Amino acid sequence: MTELTATQQTQLSKLEKKLRRNVGQAIAQYNMIEDGDRIMVCLSGGKDSYALLAILMLLQKSAPINFSLVAVNLDQKQPGFPEHILPEYLSSLGVEYKIVEEDTYAIVKEKIPEGKTTCSLCSRLRRAVLYKAAKSLNATKIALGHHRDDMIETMMLNMFYGGKLKSMPPKLVSDNGEHVVIRPLAFCKESELIQYSELKKFPIIPCNLCGSQPNLQRQNIKQMLNDWHDKFPGRIESMFTAMQNVVPSHLCDDELFDFKTINQDSNVVDGDIVFDEPELTAKPIKQQPENTLQQVNIINVS
Ligand code: SF4
Repeated sequence: MTELTATQQTQLSKLEKKLRRNVGQAIAQYNMIEDGDRIMVCLSGGKDSYALLAILMLLQKSAPINFSLVAVNLDQKQPGFPEHILPEYLSSLGVEYKIVEEDTYAIVKEKIPEGKTTCSLCSRLRRAVLYKAAKSLNATKIALGHHRDDMIETMMLNMFYGGKLKSMPPKLVSDNGEHVVIRPLAFCKESELIQYSELKKFPIIPCNLCGSQPNLQRQNIKQMLNDWHDKFPGRIESMFTAMQNVVPSHLCDDELFDFKTINQDSNVVDGDIVFDEPELTAKPIKQQPENTLQQVNIINVS
């Protein structure tokens, strides 16, 4: 494997510091990790999950709280899956890990007619297997590698095709109430994760072994967002800030805001701007004041 040049080393350490800061900030803002947690890190073999594990391992060393990590890969028995890559990589890191083998590929092939999209059944099966693994490993949290751009794309997909204003939450509780799922990369840009993955030379396992076609709707949204980013720098950052600044009284969901009963006596915050132009002053990613971060102090970037 070729060594990094001095310039690449500098790039890597700057990028790593930035990713650590962003992951630490997301962990602090949403209280993702607490003292004594055992985090099951789901590793697909893609760039995002490799980066997630690497950054959590770095934070584990510097955080003043104790938490443990167990990396889990689900071998779905897709044809051509290179079984040796993850065990070799994880052994070299010295991290606890488990490879769960479950032939979900065969189930998907049996249930879904040829040519139809297989991803939704495949994801449901994968989720069930991973929840079971989390239970057997006594994991208190399950960490997934979705990043900021996944969350924005999901919001656009839901708006365009689902008629809902919703995205991927940074933290959620499973429907059966047994598992807490966290997304520590919530504040990380995909472009930085790509660059990090290249510099770290992660042994990427291709994600198209199942033969499924990429989700075209998601691809289109990604392209649209990339075009916006090129034409209007800062727009994506502003959208993500907007996701953290929701004003229910200025949307139309009467389950979130009680429009029927408001009157002159209601003390509605942000209510009296009906004739005003909106203030367009969004800053990229809501910044935490330093002391808020120090309260949790998991970031501790040196
Ligand atoms: S791309 Fe393949 S492995 Fe991934 S969710 Fe879809 S069907 Fe499953």
